[in-house]
Parts: sequence; structure tokens; C-alpha cells
Amino acid sequence: MIKIDIKDIKSQLQDSKKIIVIPHKNPDGDAIGSCVALNELLKLLGHKSLIISPNNFPDFLKWMDVDNEIKIYEDDHKLLSNEILNSDIIFTLDFNALSRIGPMGDFVKESKAFKVMIDHHQNPENYAKHIYSDVNMSSTCEMVYHFICELSLEDKVNSKIASALYTGIMTDTGSFKFPLTTDLTHKVVSELIKKGANGNKINNLVYDNNSYDKLLLLSHTLSNMIVDMQHKTAYMYLTQESLNKYNFKKGDTEGFVNYGLSIKGVKFSAIFIENEAEKIVKISLRSKGDFNVNEFSRNNFNGGGHINAAGGYSKQNLEATLLKFKNLLPNYKTKLNE
Ligand code: 5GP
Ligand code: MN
Repeated sequence: MIKIDIKDIKSQLQDSKKIIVIPHKNPDGDAIGSCVALNELLKLLGHKSLIISPNNFPDFLKWMDVDNEIKIYEDDHKLLSNEILNSDIIFTLDFNALSRIGPMGDFVKESKAFKVMIDHHQNPENYAKHIYSDVNMSSTCEMVYHFICELSLEDKVNSKIASALYTGIMTDTGSFKFPLTTDLTHKVVSELIKKGANGNKINNLVYDNNSYDKLLLLSHTLSNMIVDMQHKTAYMYLTQESLNKYNFKKGDTEGFVNYGLSIKGVKFSAIFIENEAEKIVKISLRSKGDFNVNEFSRNNFNGGGHINAAGGYSKQNLEATLLKFKNLLPNYKTKLNE
């Protein structure tokens, strides 16, 4: 669905506005990259623009926020709720439903601001005046670049904007290998490199930033992996106790779920992570081919995402959640063996 009138947006941006840019909770490279890029562009245009993230973001993305400008809603929800209510324009990036930003969502809903959604997840909700939604796009960062071109502002793209957009495209495409990495994606990447994004440097900043504890956590996760070849499925879990043992930090488990899919013949991979503070089990799901994990998550684990990458959560304990998952697999046996 694309419900966007670029002229209307252009006219909104004609004079200086108070703008808020919002990524989803537990933001990843695409969410932070798209927000940093758009926020920077809006500031260059003379607007008073601010990124408010629902919660903190991983250390390996901190380099994008050199001046420590990203505000964390959880840290100062009263002040930041007012900023949302008093803003003229709100951009929501890389998510499809206000539930994806937690309690902040109520204020975005209530705010009279002119709202624009840019996102590539399935089933977008209808809360914004302009919805630029395209589920065939590699990443929200790629979409932000197309959006900038639609506004005829590509000349404004500096190396900070280019590097942030490159990061989101790189992380959301699994380093340019997932199915939605198209020739257009590569054309955008080519432009971003010309405008100052250094792929090698960004790769090092994002992927060669592990602690030794993180590698031990990965080793622990892989050694407890369950491989069910009858259902072409591999799944993993992490208890809060193991997370504590290996000094878990936000972002440490990103990418773990993909290891399941690297096993020959496996089409469906899942990871279940206990979160004692939130009293939930957070779930990440990945698939290959036609097996739709967005649907699987919507139907069974309160979540969603894309056809081949989705997330969700369970309010049951870890043991019960794992049992539920194991018992669901036979219902999908035919689909998994297609
Ligand atoms: P991840 O497994 O990396 O957290 O997320 C995979 C994809 O699913 C991402 O695009 C993410 O935005 C989406 N996603 C993750 N968790 C949830 C969730 O709880 N609800 C919904 N609707 N989408 C999610
Ligand atoms: Mn994304």
C-alpha cells in the first residue's frame, strides 16, 4: 500500500517545523539508520527535528549518534510525551503499528501532528496521513533514500546521512544477501557510497564490535539448539540465567536466529529469549522460501514482521512457550515440507 502525496509533504516542509522522528522499540540498524538519516536531512532543511526512541539501542549502533542526540522515551517519558503532543510533524520509521512503540503510541495517536509512516513490514495500520508502505523493499533505509529523491533533495545527502542509510540496508539485507536485495537496492547503495558511505568501515563498526562474552553466549546458544529435521526446523532458547552469566547487553543476541537457517535442509528457525523484567519470552523467527513467519507469528505469538523474518512474544514461561512451539510444528508439516 502506498498512500502518499509528495506535494502535500513538500508543502508541509516549506517552513520551519517541530518534527519528531520515531523508530520501533528495540531498534535495529534499519530503524536507527533511517531515523538518523531523516533527522539529519530535516535539520539541514532548517527544521527543529528530534529522534525519540521508545527504549535504548545497541552499542554497535551508537557511532551513528555521535552527538548523543537520540532521546530515549523510557528515560524521560513526561517531557518527551509533551514533545510528541506539541510537534507539527511526526515521522514513524520501520514499523507498521503503534503497538510497536509501547506507551509512546498513545501520545502519537493523540497528537494532532501531520503524520507520515515509512515502512516495509506487512499489514500496515492506518494511523498516519501519509503511508509510504512497500513490503517489497529491502529496508526502510532504502525507502528513505527513495523518499529523499521524491522530494528532489538527493543533493543534501551528506556522508552522515549516506552512512546511516547504508547501515540499515546492510543490516536488513543480511549484508546484501536476502531475497529483497534488488538491482534497485544496489543502485541506491552505489549512490550512498558516492556520497561518502564507507562500506568496509561500517561493516567493521557494526559486525566487529563483539565482546568475548557475546561469543560465549552464542556458543552456549548453539550447543543447546534443537534440530527437528522432520519439520525442517531448528530452534534455540536463552534463559535469563544464561543471559546474566554472559553479561548480556542489548543487541547481543541479534543474528543468533540466522544460524538455524544455515543448517542444510532447515527452512524455519526460531529463538526464544526469556526476559524476566518484562515477564515475557521474546521470540525471533526466520524462514527460507514460502514459509510465512509473519503469519505464523501473528497467529501464535502476538507478533508480525515480514514473510521471512518476524518477531513476537509469549506471556507463558519459557518452558511452556517452547512446548507450545514444538506442538505447533506438526500443524505446519506440509507447508514446511513443500
Ligand atoms: P527481530 O526478530 O530481528 O526482532 O525482528 C524481525 C522482524 O520482525 C523485524 O522487522 C521486526 O520489526 C519485526 N518484529 C519483531 N518483533 C515484533 C513484534 O513483537 N511484533 C511485530 N509486529 N513485529 C515484530
Ligand atoms: Mn527494517
